[in-house]
Amino acid sequence: MSLASRLFARSYRPPAQAAAGTGDQTATPGRADEARRALLARIGEFVETHDLSVSAANLATICGGLSGSHPELAQAFAAREIAGQPIDQRWLDTIARLDPEGHARIAELEVLMDQLEYSLMRFAQTAHSAQSETSDHRGALGAQIEAMAEVAIVPAAATELARVIDLSRAMLTRIEQVEVAMARSQEETDHLRENLVRARMEADVDHLTGLPNRRAFERRLASAAIEARAKGEKLSIAFCDVDRFKLINDNHGHDAGDRVLCAVAATLSEHGDNACFAARHGGEEFVLLFYGMDKEAARLRLDMIRRAQAARQMMNRENGQPFGRVTFSAGVAEVTEDSDTRSALGRADAALYRAKQEGRNRVVVG
Ligand code: GH3
Ligand code: MG
Ligand code: MG
Repeated sequence: MSLASRLFARSYRPPAQAAAGTGDQTATPGRADEARRALLARIGEFVETHDLSVSAANLATICGGLSGSHPELAQAFAAREIAGQPIDQRWLDTIARLDPEGHARIAELEVLMDQLEYSLMRFAQTAHSAQSETSDHRGALGAQIEAMAEVAIVPAAATELARVIDLSRAMLTRIEQVEVAMARSQEETDHLRENLVRARMEADVDHLTGLPNRRAFERRLASAAIEARAKGEKLSIAFCDVDRFKLINDNHGHDAGDRVLCAVAATLSEHGDNACFAARHGGEEFVLLFYGMDKEAARLRLDMIRRAQAARQMMNRENGQPFGRVTFSAGVAEVTEDSDTRSALGRADAALYRAKQEGRNRVVVG
């Protein structure tokens, strides 16, 4: 056990153990209630102190770290605290990947969505071929009935034939009804498939800036890392964080802050191409993927984008007031430097922290 985790184990002892003093699970119900309340209070205090949003994902990660139920998370919290580095949304998202259960649930949902899409596609195909087959049979049956009705036959067989014709006509009507129902159900299936495709696309977009969101980025990163390793190519990532953004909100209001975020997003996407993919990670933070670039090439490329952003004169169009220079700091890391994608995110995060420490408006390589 590292020093950090030993210290953390002491300061963040699971409340049930803290109450019982020995980790004894036979604590009285009163003590268990007390411990639960204490944990809840600590989670609340943590969220407030670090200005984090109250989302299910955040609460699950924080609870895993503070309750001690997830040792790896607890260790990550301890290490961060000891290093004196900020606990913010980006970092929390980075360590949330330590929670394999949470990730497995998301992956399971993705698989279910894929299966649903596939089933709908198969259903539409089957319905379509059944419909054209039924339509062919209906045509043939209709022609046959008419032919039979016109044939002159001996009176003895007439009654039997009339019954067969009636039965066939009833069948024809039923087939027509089934055909209408099938056409309607196919229309509904097509509609459902379109909605599903749209929902999946929307789930990948950040609605404020129009950039891909963190979810889309994570999928891209996972597949790009596999591909880069398979092809022996380089892959780098960068975290970008707008400098002193809180001041913009404080001085110009939240809506103006939103417009500034859109402008920064526009700078990033204007400079993006097949080799440079930008996404909004959350808040005033963006993330970039650099295909085929080692960390030095990625740094050069991102530094050009940083200079372009810093050179832009930005103004609040509501009242003509200048925003001043809106800059960002960034941390770059090479994903293909080792086999663990997560550690690259950690290195990029640490490099961004250094960029802030060293004065902001700069790109630092991790
Ligand atoms: P630093 O240079 O150290 O990054 O300073 P900062 O002020 O940018 O950093 P801090 O994390 O203190 O502030 C970020 C602020 O961004 C806090 C939060 O209220 C604001 N913010 C997060 N998401 C949004 C958003 O979608 N719109 C707006 N307008 N503000 C946001
Ligand atoms: Mg930030
Ligand atoms: Mg910032």
